[in-house]
Amino acid sequence: MTKNLNVKKEYLLQNQELFGKEIFLDVIQKSSSFPNQLNTFKNNICNCEKCDLHKSRTNFVFGEGDKNASLLLIGEAPGAQEDLEGRPFVGRSGKLLDKILKAIDRDRFNDTYICNILKCRPPENRNPSLSEIDECKPYLNHQIKLINPKLIVTLGLVAASTLLGKDSSLKDMRNNIFYYMNYPVLVTYHPAFLLRSPSFKRNAWEDFKRIRDYIKD
Ligand code: SF4
Repeated sequence: MTKNLNVKKEYLLQNQELFGKEIFLDVIQKSSSFPNQLNTFKNNICNCEKCDLHKSRTNFVFGEGDKNASLLLIGEAPGAQEDLEGRPFVGRSGKLLDKILKAIDRDRFNDTYICNILKCRPPENRNPSLSEIDECKPYLNHQIKLINPKLIVTLGLVAASTLLGKDSSLKDMRNNIFYYMNYPVLVTYHPAFLLRSPSFKRNAWEDFKRIRDYIKD
């Protein structure tokens, strides 16, 4: 009981710090006019032109996986291959992510959903701009509400700092539980980073064991 109260208190304090009371309520209200089926929602927004990224995209990349997943993985934005295929986390980094998921006895279509904060690729894979995030994040927020996961995992520093509004290093964030829209969040590395820096795979494995154990409980 005390543990639950502490968790709730921690959540409320984090949300107050992240959004302020009014902005958090605004986020919830803004997304409430979207459809309550994931596929319908995708179809409704797939021709979005709210920010300039629509001009350079090949494909809108909504996300894929189990619509009732307990584990929701969130990256920052589609890359070149994702833009070409209209699917999240494909190409080399996607293959590595698939291997990591297999190691914790799941796959991207089994109790898992994968998406990004932005649904269209930023040119040259640059980081998302603040205005692009502002325009696109209500979509992610609604996606989260519809999937209603047990745990959110952010992949990479940009996704973590964008979602959590934190200016900390990934190293500092990855051993903590945060909260976003009432959902617990764990932070780990982006698979593209692990391909460039394989010595961090050991740390990533520790993170994914925690993720596996958290979902199991
Ligand atoms: S990135 Fe998001 S807000 Fe911008 S055009 Fe694509 S779907 Fe719309």
